[in-house]
Amino acid sequence: MMEDTRKQTILIIEDEEAIAELERDYLEQAGFSVEIAYDGDSGLQRALKEEFSLIILDLMLPGTDGFEVCRQVREKKNLPILMVSAKKDDLDKIRGLGFGADDYITKPFSPSELTARVRAHLARYERLVGSAAQLGNAGMHRNRTVEIRGLRIDKDARRVYVNDEEKIMTNKEFDLLTYLAERPNRVFTKDELFRAIWDMEAVGEVATVTVHIKKIREKIEVSTSNPQYIETIWGVGYRFKL
Ligand code: CA
Repeated sequence: MMEDTRKQTILIIEDEEAIAELERDYLEQAGFSVEIAYDGDSGLQRALKEEFSLIILDLMLPGTDGFEVCRQVREKKNLPILMVSAKKDDLDKIRGLGFGADDYITKPFSPSELTARVRAHLARYERLVGSAAQLGNAGMHRNRTVEIRGLRIDKDARRVYVNDEEKIMTNKEFDLLTYLAERPNRVFTKDELFRAIWDMEAVGEVATVTVHIKKIREKIEVSTSNPQYIETIWGVGYRFKL
C-alpha cells in the first residue's frame, strides 16, 4: 500500500463527549481517521492492543488517569502522545516529571492549532523513526542507521557522526547511545540502562551509567550543560529527546 494514500488513525482519549467529538471533527476534516475512548481504562487497552499513529490524551479521566495511561503506553509503544489539560499547572507538572508525552496543549485550543501540532508530530516521527514508528513498536524492524537532528548512528559500522564529523565512541558508549536513540522519548532509570547495556550485577552501576552519559555528551553535544540529545530527568534518569 502506498504510504501517502494510507489514512493515519488517531486515538482520542477524552471523557468529555463534546470535546472528543469536536476534536474528531477537526481531525477528520484534516484527513485523519479518528477513534475515541471515553475513559482511561478502555483508552489504555486500545492504545496497547491496536495500532494508532498518534494519541491525544486528556489528563483528567475517570479510572486510569492521563499520567498513568501515558506512562504505560510509553513502556510498550513508540508513538507521539499529545497531552491535553484545562490547567496549565498540570502541564508544567507533566513536563517536570518527564512522563514521556511529546507535547502539551492547554484547553481550549483552536482547530488549526490542534491539527497543526498533530501533523508536525506525525511528520517528525515518520522522518526520525521511520518504519518503527509506523509499526507502533520501537522494538521491531529497526533501521540500521539512526538519524536525529544531525546525529547519525551507523549500526553496521558502529560509527557515530555529528554533522558528518565522526565521533569516536567506546563500545559501551556506542551501545548506550544507540539504545537510547532507538527508544526516543522514553525515560529510563540508571538501573534500567545498566541492566540493558552491561548485563551483569555490579557495585556502583548508577555511577557507571552517569560517567558514560557524561562522556557521550562531551562527544555529541554542543553544550553539555544544555544537552539537545540526551536529557536528564531529575530524580528519574535519562531520555533521548526526539
Ligand atoms: Ca477530562
